[in-house]
Amino acid sequence: MSRPTVVTRFAPSPTGPLHIGSARTALFNWLYARRHGGMFLLRVEDTDRERSTELSTQAIYQGMAWLGLDYDGLPISQAANAKRHKEVALAMLATGYAYKCFSTQEEISEFRKQAKSEKSSSMFLSPWREASEKNHPNAPFTIRLKAPRDGETIIKDRVQGDVTINNSQIDDMIILRSDGSPVYMLAVVVDDHDMGVTHIIRGDDHLNNAARQIQIYNAMSWELPTYAHIPLIHGPDGKKMSKRHGATGVDEYQLYGYSAAGMRNYLTRLGWSHGNSEFFSDEDAKNWFDLEHIGRSPSRFDFKKLANISGQHIAQTTDTNLLTELEDYLKASNSAELTKAQKVLFLSGAYCVKQNAKTLTEVYEKSTFLLNKRPILLDENAKQNIILLDADMLQELTRQLQSVTWHRPSLEKLVEVLVQSRDMKLGKLVGPLRAALSGRAVSPSIFDMMLVLGRDETIARLKDTSLLARI
Ligand code: GLU
Repeated sequence: MSRPTVVTRFAPSPTGPLHIGSARTALFNWLYARRHGGMFLLRVEDTDRERSTELSTQAIYQGMAWLGLDYDGLPISQAANAKRHKEVALAMLATGYAYKCFSTQEEISEFRKQAKSEKSSSMFLSPWREASEKNHPNAPFTIRLKAPRDGETIIKDRVQGDVTINNSQIDDMIILRSDGSPVYMLAVVVDDHDMGVTHIIRGDDHLNNAARQIQIYNAMSWELPTYAHIPLIHGPDGKKMSKRHGATGVDEYQLYGYSAAGMRNYLTRLGWSHGNSEFFSDEDAKNWFDLEHIGRSPSRFDFKKLANISGQHIAQTTDTNLLTELEDYLKASNSAELTKAQKVLFLSGAYCVKQNAKTLTEVYEKSTFLLNKRPILLDENAKQNIILLDADMLQELTRQLQSVTWHRPSLEKLVEVLVQSRDMKLGKLVGPLRAALSGRAVSPSIFDMMLVLGRDETIARLKDTSLLARI
């Protein structure tokens, strides 16, 4: 099988919840690969054994599954490749692109302390860089990259443009520790090369790393990947997105009930644009996504806009798809599963439930009238509305409903005439009716509920309420 021309990857460190910014990075990589018929790989960067946890790894899998970001093949564990990383460090040593450094931790700390007090550069230049083998002591050593001292390194970045770094600023970083373990910076390059990654799309907090990582590619005569460093996501106030602004973990967004399709749409649009398009489908995004239209400045997270986009996706999705999303949402929030009968009921009224619902939480709330059986329990707000009920009028309405044609225009007319005959405002009847039919203060329109419930159930619920009103 020939290798695809585009191979991207998402390389999260499993050290906490999956951050919304990381999810967007994953999404960009996914879209880019899918647009070009390429591969999208997942590599879990679990080399920091102290900070990596299984729980965080699971959060990555769950977050990606919820967002529908399917990756090709199995996830790769970076820690499992340690032997190969070491092999590359030794190969660099053999070719003279790396050297053994015998400086001790104390010597290096002492150097840094002094540099600080003298306000001089704290970049450590190892005295062992040019030492010949015969002068090496029999002592523990690290292996350091022999970075070029002259000239410059240019990162040809598809988002940031050409970023030039003077080589005098690039240190001889350690690539293999004295205990023989490889460092993260080496692991990233070796894995990216071995996985055949062609495009590295990641946060611009890694731009400085790129300058150092390029030295390893050059030392190994490996082809450089295409870089695209994307600006981070900021909160509405322009500061780096943090807990202060609201949810940062992808799991929290799922629990708020945002639609996954809406989330993909919103996150894609956050930092990337296609003309004025705000609302688009996955298909559109896969056809349009490119690196050229990723903005260079940080984007600001707008919770209102997210809710709006989520609502539009809910309104547009098919009823069966909405049911699946609702079931996933209930599962994620540890709520009771829907019974078979409830699923049938949900589908019978999904069309009205999904209008004006921004989240699945709202979809669920609005479908209470479908899912609950008589007698309908009233929540606090509904109880307040029932108090306003005119019992006499309810009785009259119930009587007339027995014989009216059960379709929307006749129902609307009936209610209108009834209200007018008593010189009342429609609103006065709607609140109590809504409460009687759904037990809530928020629901689909009363006419939709009547149509979905049917004559018998509607009348039965109204009668239940008139009993209640008499108490
Ligand atoms: N593991 C790094 C992170 O979670 C990403 C490294 C990379 O993309 O090269 O920020």
